[in-house]
Amino acid sequence: LRYFDHNATTPLAEVAKTAWLQAVDTQWLNPSSPYRQAAAVRVRYEAARASLAELLGVGVSRVVFTAGATEANNAVFRHWGDRLSADARVGVNPTEHPSVLEAAKAFLGERVLWLPLLEDGRVDLNVLEQQIQSGALTAVSVMAANNETGVIQAWPEIARLCQQAQIPYHCDASQWVGKMPLGGLSDCGYVSACAHKFGGPKGQGFLLLPEGEEGCHILYGGAQEALHRAGTEDVAGVMAMLAALESAAVGEAELRDAFIGWICHELPGARVVGIEADRLWNTVSLVMPQFQSVRWIRRMERAGFLLSAGSACATGKSTVSHVLSAMGLETAEAGRVLRISSGVETTAEDWQALADALLSAWGDLQREAQASNS
Ligand code: PLP
Repeated sequence: LRYFDHNATTPLAEVAKTAWLQAVDTQWLNPSSPYRQAAAVRVRYEAARASLAELLGVGVSRVVFTAGATEANNAVFRHWGDRLSADARVGVNPTEHPSVLEAAKAFLGERVLWLPLLEDGRVDLNVLEQQIQSGALTAVSVMAANNETGVIQAWPEIARLCQQAQIPYHCDASQWVGKMPLGGLSDCGYVSACAHKFGGPKGQGFLLLPEGEEGCHILYGGAQEALHRAGTEDVAGVMAMLAALESAAVGEAELRDAFIGWICHELPGARVVGIEADRLWNTVSLVMPQFQSVRWIRRMERAGFLLSAGSACATGKSTVSHVLSAMGLETAEAGRVLRISSGVETTAEDWQALADALLSAWGDLQREAQASNS
């Protein structure tokens, strides 16, 4: 099988597996227990927090370990929902992951202000700048890079604008961390990420809080995570996440771009969503000719390739991706989108095989269509 769905999840990296196994063998005590051996586990756990903080260039007190990015995103909006006044206005990018969109709607309701987009899927920075500087926004949430299209937002500029205006900024960096350089994330007040997008375990992630933030309680109970999140620590999960992040590498867009060039030349009508924007090196969202995503996906699966759709169609629902509709794609077009996402280990040969298989699937689908018409 050739795996081209790394934005959905990545396999556990060998280093992460080793770190996890070692920790479950040797660091399984509850770090809060009152004996010396447990205190040693606490020391290792806090050392892992310090290492993660160093990778991100932030103070240790900003790092809260969570059970993934969904939890981290929900925590931010619940916190804002509690803290912000009834007339607050929170600018939210409409192409966010559902864990931001749905949390924003649930916890902020009418206080959400959907930010306008440019055609390429980026938030309109001129409008946002004006909204921030005129005091129209109380807080902002814009992701680092989109999971469906790979489109990169101007998050460093947004962080700077929010810092200048002294308003909170949340950046869902789930698709950024582990794929791109980490520098600059320290300037975003709130940052969420999850380990399974970069070779770490599922159900593991972190939330960066602004320096000195004390009122954000994800779970009430014990005093773990400096009262931000109660519950016995998942020491092994954190060790595995750290090992994965330490070994994660920034890849090159070259192979992906050669694939795009080839496919757009060979497949009449194929085009890339968000092509004018900077995009993650591993992601391509392709509008395919003629046939629905699900038909392409099934056909490719039979040929040994795992890839995703730009919409929820492939999982049986008929809704069109909110990301693609927010970017102005017609429903029919959005229903023909494939999301292809590679990993650092994906080779030139894998990309070529994918291109060949898509071309061959195109021929098969056309013949099928002709046969059913006649
Ligand atoms: N945010 C983005 C941009 C994502 O791609 C994902 C992954 O699905 C999430 C949040 C949620 O991560 P998790 O399901 O690990 O909580």
